[in-house]
Amino acid sequence: MSGSQTITLTELLARAYTIEREAEYRYADLADQMEVHNNLELAQLFRKMAAIEAKHAEQIKERAEGQVLPHLSPLAGDWPGAEAPETIAPGDLHYLMTPHHALKLALAGEKQAALFFEEMAKIAGDGPTRALAEELAEEEHEHVKMAEELLARYPEPEEGWDEDLDPPTMQE
Ligand code: ZN
Repeated sequence: MSGSQTITLTELLARAYTIEREAEYRYADLADQMEVHNNLELAQLFRKMAAIEAKHAEQIKERAEGQVLPHLSPLAGDWPGAEAPETIAPGDLHYLMTPHHALKLALAGEKQAALFFEEMAKIAGDGPTRALAEELAEEEHEHVKMAEELLARYPEPEEGWDEDLDPPTMQE
């Protein structure tokens, strides 16, 4: 990582667009998992978050004013400043994932996004690029707060949670 790196507004928009889309897909996956887990409260919440992140992605596209924003691979080595944001590997989406685990994955994603935009704000040279990076970091910090508040309501399950194969509800 070099200290002389900077980022243009277009580069920031492309990366922000990717981050918001990845977040949208992450929340959609988590919502699916919570439906499997019969937790409709969290499923609905994750769907709402997916919609919010999708809206952010659309707003970023509008700011690009017709410029084509490539969907960058988060694994590509060309993310300046910060580590590339990480998406949840399909193997992480355990079919018995508890609300606690789902929220932890959501929190990790939001923290990473917030950190990434903070890094971008630091290296952004001109006014509008820095302002946008700061604005995006602020939004991600709000998502971090939300995930943390929810986590407090869904504490870690006891050992052996993934060995419990009982169906969630049984009708007699
Ligand atoms: Zn977010």
